[in-house]
Amino acid sequence: MSQESATRYPLVLVPGMLGFIRLVLYPYWYGIISALRRGGATVIAVQVSPLNSCEVRGEQLLIRIEEILRETGAAKVNLIGHSQGALTARYAAAKRPDWVASVTSVAGPNHGSELADYLHIHYPGNSPLGRVLTLVVRMIGALMSFLETGYRGPKLPVDIHASHQSLTSAGVALFNRQYPQGLPDTWGGHGAEVVNGVRYYSWSGTLQPGKTDRGRNLFDGTNRTCRLFAKTFVHEAGHCDGMVGRYSSHLGTVIGDEYPLDHFDIVNQSLGLVGKGAEPIRLFVEHAQRLKMAGV
Ligand code: CA
Repeated sequence: MSQESATRYPLVLVPGMLGFIRLVLYPYWYGIISALRRGGATVIAVQVSPLNSCEVRGEQLLIRIEEILRETGAAKVNLIGHSQGALTARYAAAKRPDWVASVTSVAGPNHGSELADYLHIHYPGNSPLGRVLTLVVRMIGALMSFLETGYRGPKLPVDIHASHQSLTSAGVALFNRQYPQGLPDTWGGHGAEVVNGVRYYSWSGTLQPGKTDRGRNLFDGTNRTCRLFAKTFVHEAGHCDGMVGRYSSHLGTVIGDEYPLDHFDIVNQSLGLVGKGAEPIRLFVEHAQRLKMAGV
């Protein structure tokens, strides 16, 4: 077996909102875990509350990290979070930098999501449509936790309101004031490479007509959903992946922010159906090599 991705510390993958480890047989990190393991990495996908605040999810992640350190004998972990999983990982690293060698944000709304802002303004929780939307999300969450087969632990609490607030620009701004580690000082800039001994990285994609809406994405409904959601963006209109803006995703060393990947493509969803010329798995493998080179 190759050792090119054999990082010193385990790679711990943290999912986003409505995330999972495995629905029946279907994994969240489609094709990614096996690719990393082929390169010699120890990879562990974790589950946290699919619908809750970054702080509640972050506390759950800390409990899981402590277990992983005990089980593997490793001194630290490398956290890789997709979407809200990035903020969840940032929380854990801010609280226990001694347990975390690196935090990598993959399409993380590190400065909030304009989609969440749009829903907050147009469908507030106390409006009739807002209540319907909350009910639909609650039902999807319940169905997904029923189908989850990769998670074995206590029942995870659900708080849809907190989940939504955690992703708005205002909600993330509050979070950032308490947990600023790795954030850029200027809009669109890079953040610090290392804070409190933790290395910070990010990458993200954007919708690119002619690329992201072509190839195998022609058969993926989630790409159409991203294109619809992208219409809610104002500040980063034309520069988002459907759920997160290009600059909003910046954290630490920005590896890239214009990969032709929508918010689902970036974790090789659905079923590896991505746009023309897109290689989301390669980004994970290359990043493991980068972490290995950095000695973590
Ligand atoms: Ca796709």
